[in-house]
Amino acid sequence: MKFGTKAIHAGVSPDPTTGAVMTPIYQTSTYAQDAPGQHKGYEYARTQNPTRTALEANLAALENGKHGICFGSGLAAMDAVLKLLSPGDEIISTNDLYGGSYRLMTRIYAKYGIKAHFLDLNDLEAVKAVVNDKTRLFWVETPTNPMLNIVDIEAICQLAREKGIWSCVDNTFASPFLQNPLDLGADIVLHSATKYLGGHSDVVLGALITNQDELAEQFHFFQNAAGAVPGPQDCFLVLRGTKTLHLRVERACQNAAQIAEFLKAQPQVDQVYYPGFTDHPGHTTAKKQMRMFGGMVSFDLKGGKLDDAVKALSGTHLFTLAESLGGVESLIGHPASMTHASIPRAERLKVGLTDSLIRLSVGVEDVEDLQQDLKHALGQL
Ligand SMILES: *Cc1c(COP(=O)(O)O)cnc(C)c1O
Repeated sequence: MKFGTKAIHAGVSPDPTTGAVMTPIYQTSTYAQDAPGQHKGYEYARTQNPTRTALEANLAALENGKHGICFGSGLAAMDAVLKLLSPGDEIISTNDLYGGSYRLMTRIYAKYGIKAHFLDLNDLEAVKAVVNDKTRLFWVETPTNPMLNIVDIEAICQLAREKGIWSCVDNTFASPFLQNPLDLGADIVLHSATKYLGGHSDVVLGALITNQDELAEQFHFFQNAAGAVPGPQDCFLVLRGTKTLHLRVERACQNAAQIAEFLKAQPQVDQVYYPGFTDHPGHTTAKKQMRMFGGMVSFDLKGGKLDDAVKALSGTHLFTLAESLGGVESLIGHPASMTHASIPRAERLKVGLTDSLIRLSVGVEDVEDLQQDLKHALGQL
């Protein structure tokens, strides 16, 4: 089955009791049993919920995976992955990553004796130099946030296999429509479904997808034993979102390509970071592992002044100044003070995340209107 068909049909079938075409929101905490232990596969809603089951099957299909396991947020899903580790274990992670992922590793898991190293995962020699017998997990994010660097998934996952290390790819920025890490050798895929999967900025939810039965069993155990589960209404909203994922992401990618070109031509703009540019350092890899180049564009202002960035960020009308990404509406953000404020400034500057860096999540509006909005905002500098 091809992607668009799976997006609409995978995991969902008319409700057996009423024939309802859309998966009902099973707003229940418990299920009747005929006799002790005799039930229809559902006992208690932390453990199983039919709306969640449908979503888990749908997301697994979109990533060409066998098992989907949903959590209350993307970070709760990541928390379940980190629970695979024990004190003394080490992680090697992308050095330019979601601020919340950095915070979870350095502020919470570090306390339990789990050490994270942050490296450029394309530099395999540097990675090999840090790998040791305590390394248990490679944490991969690509395209990276907010610099939109591209990590070669196949290469890093192959190294993981050779060394007997788990690899987890945070596929939030690409969405399963653009990139399928399990096909490239990853053990685990993570999604913040809050972003493209939900797609309408109205829900927070996370998911893990894997082909490995033992990992799925562990994640189901953590899901139930630690209890960070999503509610049925949230599962319903993501299930509704995925039905149009291919349409939304395709349009967002087309718009982003035009916006990136447009920004490059503006006198106030310095660097534009967009993997679709042929001179982007990750362009060849992006072409190899992604179907399109994504809906995210970052750019820097000439002079690099924070004041100018603040002016530009406050001057748009269609681009809403807000955290998050992946919704139908365009958003504009300031990573240094918003999504990446939890990363120390020195660390931020090392990867090029300057005070004037602006990140766009390009939506599915008419691109001419989006360009005009940016032109107006930049004109105020
Ligand atoms: C938003 C985001 C997360 C965290 O997801 P939540 O649903 O907000 O917990 C993780 N990784 C990336 C790349 C994200 O953009």
